[in-house]
Amino acid sequence: MHQFYKNLSIWLLVALAVLLLFHYCKQSPERAHTVSYTEFLKKVDSGLLANVTVVGDTVLWKNTDGTLIKTVVPQASDALERLLRGNVTIQAEEPPQTPWFLHTLLSWLPLLFLGFLWLFSLRRGGGQTPGGSGRALAFGKSRARLINPEESKIKLDDVAGIDEAKEEVAELIDFLKKPEKFTAAGARIPTGVLLYGEPGTGKTLLAKAIAGEAGVPFFSISGSNFVEMYVGIGASRVRDLFNEGKKRAPCIIFIDEIDAVGRHRSAGGAGSSGNDEREQTLNQLLVEMDGFDANDHVIVIAATNRQDILDPALLRPGRFDRQVMVPLPDVGGREKILKVHARTAKIDPGVNWQVIARGTPGFSGAQLASLVNEAALMTARGNRPAITMAILEAAKDKVLMGAERRSLIITDREKRITACHEAGHALVAWMLPGADPVHKVTIIPRGRALGLTMQLPEEERVSHDRAYLSATLCTLLGGRIAEEIVFNQMTTGAGNDLERVSDIARRMVCEWGMSEAVGPLTFKAANPLSGQPGQILSEQTAILIDVEVRKLVQTAYDTARHLLTEHRGLLDAITAALLERETISRDEIEAIVRTGAAN
Ligand code: ADP
Ligand code: ZN
Repeated sequence: MHQFYKNLSIWLLVALAVLLLFHYCKQSPERAHTVSYTEFLKKVDSGLLANVTVVGDTVLWKNTDGTLIKTVVPQASDALERLLRGNVTIQAEEPPQTPWFLHTLLSWLPLLFLGFLWLFSLRRGGGQTPGGSGRALAFGKSRARLINPEESKIKLDDVAGIDEAKEEVAELIDFLKKPEKFTAAGARIPTGVLLYGEPGTGKTLLAKAIAGEAGVPFFSISGSNFVEMYVGIGASRVRDLFNEGKKRAPCIIFIDEIDAVGRHRSAGGAGSSGNDEREQTLNQLLVEMDGFDANDHVIVIAATNRQDILDPALLRPGRFDRQVMVPLPDVGGREKILKVHARTAKIDPGVNWQVIARGTPGFSGAQLASLVNEAALMTARGNRPAITMAILEAAKDKVLMGAERRSLIITDREKRITACHEAGHALVAWMLPGADPVHKVTIIPRGRALGLTMQLPEEERVSHDRAYLSATLCTLLGGRIAEEIVFNQMTTGAGNDLERVSDIARRMVCEWGMSEAVGPLTFKAANPLSGQPGQILSEQTAILIDVEVRKLVQTAYDTARHLLTEHRGLLDAITAALLERETISRDEIEAIVRTGAAN
């Protein structure tokens, strides 16, 4: 906890204790022995009582042996008269008043307590210092994490495979190192840089590397941290963050998941109460960025994977006006990333990184990092001397498909159906010229899937042609059709396949203009995230689209069914191989097809 508040709370507690003690001592008569009113009257009547002290409705008197006695006198009594009659000296005292400050304090105590609770809840989660590498900022402040230059270990060399993005941000490093040089020359350096791209492509890593290379402090916070349940907190956090940044300039402020704050203002969940708060926070962010000038020497880097839903106001000049795409790595990039992460591991000389890179299309940097890490773990677990090719392959499967679920109990019949289903996918993919080659087929359950047919593209595909998409439709339908042919029944196992089929077919018609009847037009569906409304279609168009989608799927279905019926023998052979070995590779399928063709 922040020192100031720690001290404050301690002092408050001490003050409270002193006050209570004081109060207690002053009212010490309360500790006097209490005697009933009747007893007291007897004493008065006996004439042994010389004097009493009256305090409010209490009478204090001394017993013969000198002990202090207290008696509460009933309101409707003639005690006074009887005392006067008995010649007792009466001394009246004002009843002790609770001191005003104590009174005030006591009545405010619950409120104070609530206030403290609130402050604590604000603190919670904000001040951790993970791994000791970050320092939490002051209490109730921005909750940003700070990595000081001395602690930052990440350099540009640690970021691989995204060279273009690296080049684009390289000049920021020079600027942060020698800001005066740039400002003297009148150069305008962007204050805001937006990194966008899929999750795990290394946006955070790149921002850290810039700070690491330039040797400047790195403040990082996630957009979702700004938006809390308390209205007004987000805006004040933004203000604090920027103030803190200006104090430590030159420095980098990194805002991850900026879409959490910077989502298009018209969008956002319906009726969510966080909306006002988010808007206030966003406004504050815009105000702060506008307030910057080149002399502040602070660079704000934001990251998102949903650049499309950002509020356009964020992207205006003077704000995040430089946008750098951080793409998924290509083959060469993947190889470099793998090597970066393998630097510290023991690698068998037989390992060919290029092969692994080719077998991991679509992997993000983060996935590649976890592939290497998984392989290192497997190596250690198996007490093996170094990471081998086989281990890397296994690690790849694990990252790609989730861990195997060998413990899942599957009935024999389910297993046969799964084998037949996967064999159907594999055979159709094998037979169709346009489809991605089959890499591996398995009926070992992984994640939620009971089986899996893995296809790997020959080369990187940036765009897809019609033939490829049709082949994909056929392949996806192949599983269900094989079940139909062999077992003459349908199972729920194909649900996910069919979902993808509908999705692809619809997009072929509506987005990619691949249906002659509809023509080269696009029809946008509503996008609930960006708040973009769907295109309004005439009834005829809607019907036409449905007809065309159906036609595409039906054609694919017919093609696949024809293929599988024709090659029923191969389908059965692959199914049998799967039931026997559970996982079969491309080579094994090839062998089956070859012997099948020879027969
Ligand atoms: P993002 O911020 O884009 O979601 P991160 O920067 O958090 O992704 O990446 C997570 C981890 O993945 C990094 O810490 C790093 O280990 C690894 N990684 C991602 N991209 C790369 C890359 N281009 N080069 C090296 N490692 C990478
Ligand atoms: Zn399937």
